[in-house]
Amino acid sequence: MGNTMRLLEAIVDANHRALAGDPKAGLRPSEHADSLPVVALTCLDARLNPVLPEVLGIPEEQFLWVRNAGNVVGGPFSSAARALALACLLEGAREILVIGHSDCRVARQSVMSLLDRFSALGISRDRLPENLLETFGLFASEPQNVHAACDTLRKSPIIPPHVPVHGLMVDLDTGRLEWLVNGYTTLPTTTAEAVQATVASVRETLGRIGDWTEFRIGSVALSDLPIGRTVAGAIDRLEGTLGKLEQALGTAPSISGPAVTPTPSQESGVEPAEGGPQGPSGSKKAIPIPPPVTRLRHRDR
Ligand SMILES: [Zn+2]
Repeated sequence: MGNTMRLLEAIVDANHRALAGDPKAGLRPSEHADSLPVVALTCLDARLNPVLPEVLGIPEEQFLWVRNAGNVVGGPFSSAARALALACLLEGAREILVIGHSDCRVARQSVMSLLDRFSALGISRDRLPENLLETFGLFASEPQNVHAACDTLRKSPIIPPHVPVHGLMVDLDTGRLEWLVNGYTTLPTTTAEAVQATVASVRETLGRIGDWTEFRIGSVALSDLPIGRTVAGAIDRLEGTLGKLEQALGTAPSISGPAVTPTPSQESGVEPAEGGPQGPSGSKKAIPIPPPVTRLRHRDR
């Protein structure tokens, strides 16, 4: 059976099937090795502790977890954004999940209630900053807060552009996931676009080399000298590779999953970028398949 679902599609599908009573619903992480590990930003609410990463079906060792009060992203360089960026840079996170939750206490605070709580703990108004709303990232709607967080992260220059930023809500009572922001649709460039740009740039260079080989040394065409023939052979091979690349791009389905921008060394080798439609093939480390998510833990509050 061909698995064409991307990681988040498979997670949400398995979650909804499990809730509908399908005992076989579950995620097979080994089928999504190219998308793991993930890093999640969630609230620090303790009721999330037994819920994640279980409702996602992702093994704990593939789940990086950043938490703050209200899963707030205060700005493109905020502490949350920096932690998520470093999760990608240092821990190899492939996808970012902002997961809000139902009944969030941060969403229920007003400036007045916060002042009352500070006061109750012996902290007077004059010691607090002017704009409490902004300072603490207070929000009124959990889903809106998730949308705002994803938007800020997507625009942040420190979040790798090829890493999808998804937004989800989890219901603490049922474990149901709601996919609010599909990070796959907001990737700024696809692998195909990146490779096409590289091909165009190499072609331009080849055009200039072509002019150069028409030079003559005295009465001898440079292309007739041994060095000229070596260059011509190399150019022929390069053009053949470029042609194959373009053919592949023209017939390949749109690239899914995290796009891979060719690195300088890959550009010179002009091999198709890895992680394309062929997906995970042998070279990625195998992830043991945990038992499927059979029963979502129901939590009484
Ligand atoms: Zn919360």
